Amino acid sequence: MELDICPLFSGSSGNSTYLSCGQTKILIDAGVTCKRIVEALSMLDVHASEISGIVITHEHIDHIKGIGVLSRKYDIPIYANELTWDAMQRIVGPISDKNMRVFQTGLDFFIKDVCVQPFSIPHDAAAPVGFSFNAKGKKVSIVTDLGYMTGDVLEAISYSDLLILEANHDIDMLTAGRYPYHLKRRILSTKGHLSNEACANALVKLFKTNVKRVLLGHMSKENNAVEIAFCTIKSILDENDIIEGKDIFIDIALEDRATGLYKIV
Ligand SMILES: [Zn+2]
Ligand SMILES: [Zn+2]
Repeated sequence: MELDICPLFSGSSGNSTYLSCGQTKILIDAGVTCKRIVEALSMLDVHASEISGIVITHEHIDHIKGIGVLSRKYDIPIYANELTWDAMQRIVGPISDKNMRVFQTGLDFFIKDVCVQPFSIPHDAAAPVGFSFNAKGKKVSIVTDLGYMTGDVLEAISYSDLLILEANHDIDMLTAGRYPYHLKRRILSTKGHLSNEACANALVKLFKTNVKRVLLGHMSKENNAVEIAFCTIKSILDENDIIEGKDIFIDIALEDRATGLYKIV
């Protein structure tokens, strides 16, 4: 049995990633409408009612938009920490008691065969988390909406067989761009989003722990471009004698459609 992962949506207009291991089928966030999630899953031959659970990183709308309807319509359990539940309950609407699951950040829990490890990340939400998933001796991690890379986050995602990491913006594009000043400050702050450069510097460190397959996520449409992100990250890796395409493999999680199914065997 293998661990499969497929980013369905990634970016400020909505985030959701599909992960499966045999009969265990998990969504990480569901930040677009239920209808769009159902359509994206059907491309993978998965019916929404097969989803074992949705784990939530934080309450921003681009991560939770579809979860209320998905849970009510297809009877899907939602997993979030207590502060995130408090912050999102009004937006999500009523969820049945049995589908309202509470995890504690820092404590592992299981969804069927998959061990889920939530860890705290710096971002301007109530109690935001990233996740690692362990199954069959393989590890997949996902961290987006990250103000800056902390030592604890680095440790949590080290030795991942596949990592989805945020490369949100190019600092120059953001600074020169048309976003209002307060928004620029928010994105650049320690509770905002990770730049291409910060992403690359993290990858240099993670490479030493055998992280060799990476998907760049939550890329800003306004303040980033695929070629610029790739170029910045490649050149920082180059400076550290890490060659993309040989030592490490980097792909982009697309904003508005499924990126492709990555099989971890
Ligand atoms: Zn987000
Ligand atoms: Zn956010």
